[in-house]
Amino acid sequence: MDFKNLPQIDRILNLECFKDALKPILSQISRVVLNEQRELIKLGETALNQEQIIEKIASEYNAYKISQLTPIINATGVSIHTNLGRSVIDERIYERAKDIICSYSNLEYNLENGSRGNRYDYAAKLLRTLFGSEDALIVNNNASAVFLVLNTFAKGGETIVSRGELVEIGGNFRIPEVMNASGTVLKEIGTTNKTRLSDYENAINENTKMLLKVHRSNFDIVGFSDSVEASEISDLARQNNLLDYYDLGSGYVGELPYNLGKDEPAVDKILQSGVSLISFSGDKLLGSVQCGIILGKKELIARLRKNQLLRMLRVDKVIISLLCESAKAYINKEFSLITTLNELYKSTNELEILANLINENLAEPLEILTTQTFVGGGTMPNKKIPSIALVVKGNAKKNEQNFRAEGVIGRIENDKFLLDLRSVLQKDVKKLINIINKVSK
Ligand SMILES: *Cc1c(COP(=O)(O)O)cnc(C)c1O
Repeated sequence: MDFKNLPQIDRILNLECFKDALKPILSQISRVVLNEQRELIKLGETALNQEQIIEKIASEYNAYKISQLTPIINATGVSIHTNLGRSVIDERIYERAKDIICSYSNLEYNLENGSRGNRYDYAAKLLRTLFGSEDALIVNNNASAVFLVLNTFAKGGETIVSRGELVEIGGNFRIPEVMNASGTVLKEIGTTNKTRLSDYENAINENTKMLLKVHRSNFDIVGFSDSVEASEISDLARQNNLLDYYDLGSGYVGELPYNLGKDEPAVDKILQSGVSLISFSGDKLLGSVQCGIILGKKELIARLRKNQLLRMLRVDKVIISLLCESAKAYINKEFSLITTLNELYKSTNELEILANLINENLAEPLEILTTQTFVGGGTMPNKKIPSIALVVKGNAKKNEQNFRAEGVIGRIENDKFLLDLRSVLQKDVKKLINIINKVSK
């Protein structure tokens, strides 16, 4: 093959098969592929022919396309699925926030006196009402919240934490490493399965700044185990003039179905038990946007607001507006606007009705299976909730691939590919029916 036999970029861009492609990206990919071929020709090696070159460009363009963000159908049964974007924002919440997002606003402008305002004020007012805390602050995510709290109150000193709570949650978030980076020294106490109040007491010394409790978000220590209640840690901290902080991971409002809240009370209850400072994610059980919510005593929040690092962790108007609308929905008791809660609250009866409705629209109805699923997102480890799934006939791995190719993520259980209906959005049901019919053909 000769250089002059290589296809021209212009010709490639105008090919029918690329008519919907994003041309600058396609052109970039084409140039790289053509250059590789030019190098091969220079070295006297066999290059691809025109047809193969176009195939290669098409396959690389497809790889680019498939990596872009795209909606998928969550049939894993896990509502708070970090890999699938955690909590879904209801379209009505999005609509209510849209005017602020698509406009200039008084984000940091005080309309009463025409001076500079504070971007956190309004959201903090709503969160105070919702959770009954003295004050509130929002940062980028709960990992940022942990970092900011430790950096503000425990830098240069020691933070005491139970060995049974030194968690690593998904995405390499390790509590010990975050603590190090924030400038506090970790003082581990107790053993993996047992930590007593006396372990905290004995570890306190003149360098101690904080007693930290971390929620065991994605694991559970069962059997011979013991940990200390947040309220006891708070009392001990107060007696020793130290700060107590509870990294809750996931906070929720009110009640949870299926006895999920048994070992883990709602945020307002935890605050009432006397904890000085807590933080949790906005997109776990709260069912809103990604952010970290810090609640607690007024003077503590004031010190957090003064930390220069807050500037690096601050949230923008998109996050603030959506979070405010979620908070207002809670305050108004419009719970139907919180998708995550709706999914968790669905009864198996409702899910069975949905399974039957899907089956009525399938060329070949699927077996309906009573199963169990998890809440996900590092919340409520080991706590299963009942669910209903459709069982797709045939090879589980093949089915998993075929459905994934159509944007449906299910799960494999006992060598069967399942479509668990607990996490399927109402608006996706029609699409799911079409995909099942297409894939099982
Ligand atoms: C999820 C979680 C975090 C991190 O929260 P992000 O919002 O994902 O940053 C921190 N601590 C605990 C205990 C968690 O469960």
